Amino acid sequence: MLRSWPRAIAHVDADAFFASVEQAVHPELKGRPVITGAERGIVSAASYEAKARGVARGVPLHHVKKLCPDCVILPSDYETYSLYSKRMFEIMRRFSPIVEEYSIDEGFCELTGLRRLFHCDYRGIAARMQEAILTELDITASVGISLSKSLAKLCSKFRKPHGITAVGGRHIHLLLARTPLEKVWGFGSNTVALLAKHGLKNALDFVDRPESFASNLMGKIGRELWGELRGEYVYKVSAEDADRQLSISKTKTFTPPSADRNYVWARALRNLESACIKARRHGLAARRLVLHLRTQQFEGAGLEAKLVRASSSTNELVPVLAEMFEKIFKPGTLYRATGVVLAELADERPAQFTLFEDVGHALASERAFEAVDEIAERFGKHTIFLADGAVLSEQHAGERGLTAERKSRPLKGETKRQHLKLPLLRFNLRH
Ligand SMILES: [Mg+2]
Repeated sequence: MLRSWPRAIAHVDADAFFASVEQAVHPELKGRPVITGAERGIVSAASYEAKARGVARGVPLHHVKKLCPDCVILPSDYETYSLYSKRMFEIMRRFSPIVEEYSIDEGFCELTGLRRLFHCDYRGIAARMQEAILTELDITASVGISLSKSLAKLCSKFRKPHGITAVGGRHIHLLLARTPLEKVWGFGSNTVALLAKHGLKNALDFVDRPESFASNLMGKIGRELWGELRGEYVYKVSAEDADRQLSISKTKTFTPPSADRNYVWARALRNLESACIKARRHGLAARRLVLHLRTQQFEGAGLEAKLVRASSSTNELVPVLAEMFEKIFKPGTLYRATGVVLAELADERPAQFTLFEDVGHALASERAFEAVDEIAERFGKHTIFLADGAVLSEQHAGERGLTAERKSRPLKGETKRQHLKLPLLRFNLRH
């Protein structure tokens, strides 16, 4: 028989995350049905008040209006959600050094051996973590604790919202008996159908079969899941993914606000230069580039692009930024801030070149920017800047409107399509 806690893995899952963050940021929305996803035409996240009215993720908005006419329908604000996500993982890391960021609102946390440190049982540690998330972020999270990641993930779903479910070795069979096959992490609909054909009804039926049954039916993954559900620690909690979540963000508010395209563009360009300089200083390259503009009315628009290869070269990223800028800049609108995020940062070397890319050009531009960085280090960041940024050195032209044309083109050998996979997302912010 299994000991109760040979190992303790926690799965922390924020409840109705996007909707909860909106309610945390806008307390006047608390207690009201709130959904996000206005820009997609379907529900991305629904607050518990909306869920109670039958509104669920994926429901089309016109249907929401019928189900719940007083529902507050908001556009997604990924910038804020990412910030809350980051803070939630930071709180988790205060409790354990081994935290895996599984998605924006879910993570695993290795708690084995920490009971003595916190003078309480694993449930107590989870309660303190929940408490910290609630008091610091004003959102709730549900926590599942068990012997493996698969079991912990089942546990966190068990009591929601703001629940804690801890299932030690001696009680796993009780949990599994109440778990239908389709709730098991890793069982897709085909697998469920196949297992049902063999007469299985729940997760307990699955682990009661010999290992060879799982292995014959589903190969390596079957064997792994069989072990995980029996409480073996097969899938390790890996803190490495944290790097993937690293991002560098440069935002600047300017006064007075400006409707001048060239000025706003120059601001965005300067954000990009600063972000790239910082990335290069840390030897990091980004796989994703995000641009956001914020208007005088605190509305905003943002766009993100997946890059062909990881890069921290301003030269390479300018055309991508320019495309996004074209798409979201609205003439006649007063803007008060621009921001650029380099996301999915990874170690810069070895560079991954695509087949279609002009490697010589990419390497040359990398060398050029190394020189820029050296000068920047000696004489200050923006001693050398891209030509378009020159507008910032002149007196701010205000509403006069400059006529200089922006020049930007994709790298040689890259088609626009390869260069930019747009639009990945588009959102508006309202504050
Ligand atoms: Mg969640």
